[in-house]
Amino acid sequence: MKIVVLKFGGTSVGSIKKIKKVAEIIVGYKRKNYKVVVVSSAMSGVTNELIKKSSEISNNFPITEYDVLVSTGEQIACSLIAGRLIHKGYMSRSWLAWQIPILTVGAHKNSRINQINKIKIIKYLRKGGIPIITGFQGVNNDNRITTIGRGGSDASAIMLAKFFRAERCIIYTDVEGVYTTDPNKLKKAKKIKVISYEEMLEMASLGAKVMQPVSIQDARLNRIDIEVKSSFKNKSGTLITKRSNIINNKIVTGISSTQNDSKVSLIGVKDKPGVAAAIFKPLSKNLVNVDMVVQNISANGKETDLTFTIKTDDLNKTKKIIQENKTINYRKLVFEKGVSKISVIGVGMITTPGVTFRMFQTLANKQINIKVISTSEIKISVLIDKINTQRALIALHKEFKLDHKK
Ligand code: ASP
Ligand code: MG
Repeated sequence: MKIVVLKFGGTSVGSIKKIKKVAEIIVGYKRKNYKVVVVSSAMSGVTNELIKKSSEISNNFPITEYDVLVSTGEQIACSLIAGRLIHKGYMSRSWLAWQIPILTVGAHKNSRINQINKIKIIKYLRKGGIPIITGFQGVNNDNRITTIGRGGSDASAIMLAKFFRAERCIIYTDVEGVYTTDPNKLKKAKKIKVISYEEMLEMASLGAKVMQPVSIQDARLNRIDIEVKSSFKNKSGTLITKRSNIINNKIVTGISSTQNDSKVSLIGVKDKPGVAAAIFKPLSKNLVNVDMVVQNISANGKETDLTFTIKTDDLNKTKKIIQENKTINYRKLVFEKGVSKISVIGVGMITTPGVTFRMFQTLANKQINIKVISTSEIKISVLIDKINTQRALIALHKEFKLDHKK
């Protein structure tokens, strides 16, 4: 069976007119003789409305009922899509997760799909039907409705593609694909034709807007090709796939930048085992997300400096945690707001030397000072003053030949 999974996001089903358009897209695949499995999110705004209602009922709304409530948005969208397909003369019906069932494990609000029963859907596909399946929801061992985290319909689609061994999983959304950098920040950003899972994960700050990052990890583990494309424009999108499928590797695939980061330095901490752990333990306990971490080599073997970055939103919390941490000693604590991390990402840099140098030289030519550097196999990140972000982005995008040619 040639199965394709089509997932429609909230904006794609955001109005009656758009749902009619979605039905057209589905019919297009049906005509090409695909067995089509559709997954839909709730109409845009609906999930947020439902969450708001729950918090107006109680500031301690039970998570079991939260899942029952917020999963209803998907039910509405799916019945409307199925209704439209039936109107057009096709065999279709909606399926709620419990009717299949799509089984989940883990806590309410944040469950994980671990099993999908295929029997009913396969039978239905064989008869020529088009199943329209609710994303974002599942049912657990206690027969309770669950949800799998905000933006979870992406993960639903990936798991359906996995269990049904779909040829392809297509994520329909309101952007045309994944770009070399945020097109809202840089006009010259170009749509990427093919990108590896690893690069896509590294570009999380760009990717997150296009797809839920955990679902990209699911796709990577299960080797499922994903195509991200616009439901409004009939253009090819971005293919997310395994590295070995990418023949024409660019050295750099994309550049991402962060906003509202802060830098924290502990000057003169003891250079002995356990110190870093003592600093980071209370931070992780309080859910402060630490990003870049750099420890200087100790010059005298006794003392060293430790620097890390966090979101500026967490700055006050972090200050308090460090100042109240009685298990660490340091000479001075320095905070700096208004920094930004720029990362160049690409699997091509594994085999191409000199990317680091080119990045640093480009920034030097623009008189942009680098505060912190960190690298991974496929990424080089630098921390700079936030006011230089745009200039750095423009220069690096050009240096690595990513600019859109108009
Ligand atoms: N409707 C859910 C949400 O808004 C799931 C999704 O959009 O993927 O989070
Ligand atoms: Mg969504």
